[in-house]
Amino acid sequence: MSAVTVLADGAELTPCRVGVVGAAGRMGRALLQVILADSALQLGAAVVRPGSAEIGCDAGSLVGAGDTGVAVSAQLSDVLPAIDVLVDFSLPEAALAHLALCADTGTPVVLGGTGFDATGLDAVAAAARRIPVVHAANYSVGVTLALRLIALAAEVLGDSVDVEVLEAHHRHKVDAPSGTALRMGETLATTLGRDLAGDAVYGRHGRGEPRDRRTIGFSTIRGGDVVGEHTVLFLGEGERLEITHRASSRMTFAQGALRAATWVAQRSAPGLYEMDAVLGLSDCGR
Ligand code: NAD
Repeated sequence: MSAVTVLADGAELTPCRVGVVGAAGRMGRALLQVILADSALQLGAAVVRPGSAEIGCDAGSLVGAGDTGVAVSAQLSDVLPAIDVLVDFSLPEAALAHLALCADTGTPVVLGGTGFDATGLDAVAAAARRIPVVHAANYSVGVTLALRLIALAAEVLGDSVDVEVLEAHHRHKVDAPSGTALRMGETLATTLGRDLAGDAVYGRHGRGEPRDRRTIGFSTIRGGDVVGEHTVLFLGEGERLEITHRASSRMTFAQGALRAATWVAQRSAPGLYEMDAVLGLSDCGR
């Protein structure tokens, strides 16, 4: 467990106590590794799905580390007093229940999961009117910058090009297209003055009409251990521009999500924020 850090001037730096939900998952384990290696962070709680074999074990055993003094729990309500901020990388239904609990107790949240439906997104927005919430489809710095580049390219190229979004992920991912691909599509739609709900085309098959320029196409690949790859294509006459991001390790998402946790733990005002606010690119809640 992290101890209080004494700075050169004698001041004490109290670590931010982080609770991780979905601690036994792929992202949960990456989050634990980053927290345990960072003296500015302290593991406050590790929450797993009810009925899991890991309940009661020391959280360090999830990542092959030594004792952390934190027992794996299945009930967030039991461990909320031990944390300053919650980082939830579970699944949408569970995450919404956890978010409601945090709204009741005033605990800031970093929401990592993707695949929320419209009702779920409304519930996230409602919670963010009571507490500070960061909800980013992708916590990597590279994707945050890619979204900016996509908006710039769309603004300059406008209706002179066809736009398509390609994405690939590992075989275990259950939602498609990925939350990041949809976020890229939203950026394109907003910048180009289109409506994603009406203009998106998800995959193509068989005979149909030639491509309508207003459409925003999505293509999805699932397989193997691909951590996450996204490309936005701007296809014109005689040239094409491709903006690609490739994640090679989940650690980039974990580091970004914990950067967001430290940031949101220091905010007192409620609001719904994305990663660009965390990085200081925009400080405005949605
Ligand atoms: P995973 O399936 O490996 O992990 C999810 C974990 O949540 C599992 O261990 C599951 O048991 C647990 N869980 C389910 N219900 C729970 C409950 N009620 N309480 C506690 N834990 C519960 O999946 P993953 O690859 O770690 O991804 C998790 C989510 O994060 C997915 O939605 C994925 O798309 C998303 N993701 C987001 C980013 C990002 O940057 N925003 C990056 C990677 C993954």
